[in-house]
Amino acid sequence: MSDCLVVGGGIIGLSVAYELSRRGLAVTLIEQGDWGGQASSAAAGMLAPLKEFASPGPMLDLGMESLHLYPEWAQELEERASGDVQLSLEGLVTVALNGQEREQLQAKHHWQKEAGHDVHWLECNELRDVEPLLSDQVVAGIYSPGEGHINNRLLLRSLVTACRVQGVTLLSGCVVSGIAVKSGRVVGVETTSGPIRADQTVIASGAWAGIMMQMLDVAIPVRPVRGQIAAVSSVGIPLRTVIFGTTGYITPKKDGKIVIGATEDESGFQREVTMAGLASILNGVMPYVPALHAAAFLEAWGGLRPATADGKPLLGPVPGWEGLSLAGGHFRNGILLSPITAKRIADYIESGRTDKIEPFLPSRFLS
Ligand SMILES: Cc1cc2nc3c(=O)[nH]c(=O)nc-3n(C[C@H](O)[C@H](O)[C@H](O)COP(=O)(O)OP(=O)(O)OC[C@H]3O[C@@H](n4cnc5c(N)ncnc54)[C@H](O)[C@@H]3O)c2cc1C
Repeated sequence: MSDCLVVGGGIIGLSVAYELSRRGLAVTLIEQGDWGGQASSAAAGMLAPLKEFASPGPMLDLGMESLHLYPEWAQELEERASGDVQLSLEGLVTVALNGQEREQLQAKHHWQKEAGHDVHWLECNELRDVEPLLSDQVVAGIYSPGEGHINNRLLLRSLVTACRVQGVTLLSGCVVSGIAVKSGRVVGVETTSGPIRADQTVIASGAWAGIMMQMLDVAIPVRPVRGQIAAVSSVGIPLRTVIFGTTGYITPKKDGKIVIGATEDESGFQREVTMAGLASILNGVMPYVPALHAAAFLEAWGGLRPATADGKPLLGPVPGWEGLSLAGGHFRNGILLSPITAKRIADYIESGRTDKIEPFLPSRFLS
């Protein structure tokens, strides 16, 4: 019997399992398919809280804290797994194409600057010093030098190896079919490989977390929001920085790909790429970088972001079910938020204290 059982082998489950194991707990991690085979490998890997969150508050605070954990987290995983995760915190530009977008960005820059964040307002010529491939249509933007991206697929691979090295029991191809309860307390799960028992069970099953909660008749709304995303070759397109705008984003990776995305579709659990989706992401980024017209197309794929009704993640205990916690609902930012989620969930499991996860407690959906 493990101290802790984590359900779901995406970025969140792997990070939580690794952190719990690092702290000396005996951990089992269960994944129904391949490690990281769902939303986590579909992501663009951007680490960009200042770009992502439209206002100050607990989400931005969580995102900034996680961003600051990244260099140490990435280095530790690289050492444990002997592999590069291609972390790049070399800056991001959020750009405006017209007067209205400019005004909106200026207002954002204003509160970000007031709050002491490292952001710079750049007019079009200054922006081109940062990213010479930007088009003439770009009128101004915010430059945030500390944001960036990581190769999330390499990060997932490193996490699997780090978990293995750390002694986590890794079960892939194992479907959780029920939650085991004894005297009102969750004592583990039923699976296609038989029952697995633990003192603490953490559900990190991404877009499927709501379905898993229904096994206990607990109504916590998590829905899949499909993202369609594509990669083109960077040959002949030496982009320096991540570019983000209202109609799409462009992430130049260190592996020779430029990742461009992404749609947000309410399409249930369908992951496929549609003609309309692909057309919208490709057309969406052309106004920012005209050189992309000549880029060689490589691939396109889809993934299911786990979304909650209020856009905030679910971190912490499930009320009424001792021994059961949630780590999920990270929507567009699960890669960014993985180190802080691992830390916060492990803190809670160790101490039982919820003060640092108050805004994200699952209890907010249960009256
Ligand atoms: C197109 C796209 C672009 C994105 N870009 C970014 C980005 O740039 N930056 C960023 O931070 N985030 C990004 N995201 C969001 C990010 O990918 C997600 O927030 C994150 O991957 C969620 O991780 P997860 O581990 O909760 O879910 P998942 O990766 O989906 O993992 C959940 C796992 O649980 C398993 N599971 C489900 N049910 C069961 C069961 N019954 N038994 C066993 N296992 C089960 C699933 O098989 C799955 O592997 C993007 C997402 C998409 C789709």
